[in-house]
Amino acid sequence: MAKLTVHDIDLQGKCVLTRVDYNVPMAERNGTMVINDDTRIRATLPTLKAMINKGAKIILVAHLGRPKGVREPSMSLRPVADKLAKLIGQPVAFCEQCVGDAVAEAVNGLEDSGLLLLENVRYHTEEVDNDPAFAEQLAAMADAYVNDAFGAAHRAHASTAGVAKVITNRGGLCAAGLLMERELQFLDDELADPDRPFVVILGGAKVSDKIKVIDRLLEKADTILIGGAMAYTFMLAMALTVGKSLVEPEAVEVAQAALDKASELNVQFLIPNDHIVATLGVTNQLENHRVSDSNNIPDDAGGVDIGPKATAEFSKVIANAKTILWNGPMGVFEDPRFAEGTFSVANAVCEATRNGAQSIIGGGDSVKALNMAGLGDQVTFMSTGGGASLEFLEGNELPGIAMLTDK
Ligand code: AMP
Repeated sequence: MAKLTVHDIDLQGKCVLTRVDYNVPMAERNGTMVINDDTRIRATLPTLKAMINKGAKIILVAHLGRPKGVREPSMSLRPVADKLAKLIGQPVAFCEQCVGDAVAEAVNGLEDSGLLLLENVRYHTEEVDNDPAFAEQLAAMADAYVNDAFGAAHRAHASTAGVAKVITNRGGLCAAGLLMERELQFLDDELADPDRPFVVILGGAKVSDKIKVIDRLLEKADTILIGGAMAYTFMLAMALTVGKSLVEPEAVEVAQAALDKASELNVQFLIPNDHIVATLGVTNQLENHRVSDSNNIPDDAGGVDIGPKATAEFSKVIANAKTILWNGPMGVFEDPRFAEGTFSVANAVCEATRNGAQSIIGGGDSVKALNMAGLGDQVTFMSTGGGASLEFLEGNELPGIAMLTDK
């Protein structure tokens, strides 16, 4: 790990501005906002406990939803302060502002090892604009900065890149939190020189969303398995028929380039050799789903999942893997009729993990699918960032990480 972490720096008595990802799902119940899933809050506890043990004065900054500069009460972080206090077992002060005199007053009232949560930083448009003056205001009370919000690290916002720049220019240190450290350990260090065979499983809706990841991983992987709707664009490139499947004709050229690169580099590149297809009924519902036992998809139907032969073939490849990276479902897994392929792949990944493979799940819908199947704790690592993990896997330097202090 090339960046400082909270373990590397002295925090005793220091005011530490700490960016966390508290963008939790909430719903209104009897006039109050209730948190439906506290996974993201729990995920920050190891970092916060380490900082508490080091005697830091912890100032938490986070966003919730997209209020676009408006003080939208349903997007207040106040319920998060209460939830965090319960989870961590100590009081968490809440400040209704994130900059200005009220913050200065609240920080002055913080004891060593105390916690303060600031109000939603996206109540100010300057956050998303990465406004330098706003970043100065956010950093006004801070001696040091910790970023534990991997899920927001791909955005150059004031609370991610801006404050780190201000604090660095002042000679202060900027460190990764432990959640961020783990993300970098798995998405970077472990994939730099993976144990082989290294099998990459990619699925989801669009080739265009993931082509840069495919292109980069072609240089590292032994096998790439493609499922989901993106497989149909590759099928178009191979002159197979796709019926009424979701495809991107404009991405056929890049799909062809990826196929050429795979054959040049001798990377095994598998697309499904059979499919679950369905027909769109008069009420726009998918109906009459069945196995299409062919590489091609019939003209009157669309592909909605990988078929049983493809599931068996993919599972066999996964069983032999020593390193697995998975991003994207194999079909429309939200509908139980079309979830079999995704859940079977999930089971195969967990089985391989039990047999000693490292399995890394690159965020987004694959994490959702594993959790739906009750398998979330049976893989080596699940990324907390959807967009951030994709951008990282593309090889981009994420602004929220780039600005942290080098070791
Ligand atoms: P992504 O965000 O690119 O990983 O895409 C995830 C979405 O792709 C999920 O909502 C799936 O329902 C959708 N998806 C996967 N396979 C298919 C398919 N065969 N046809 C249409 N949508 C699909």
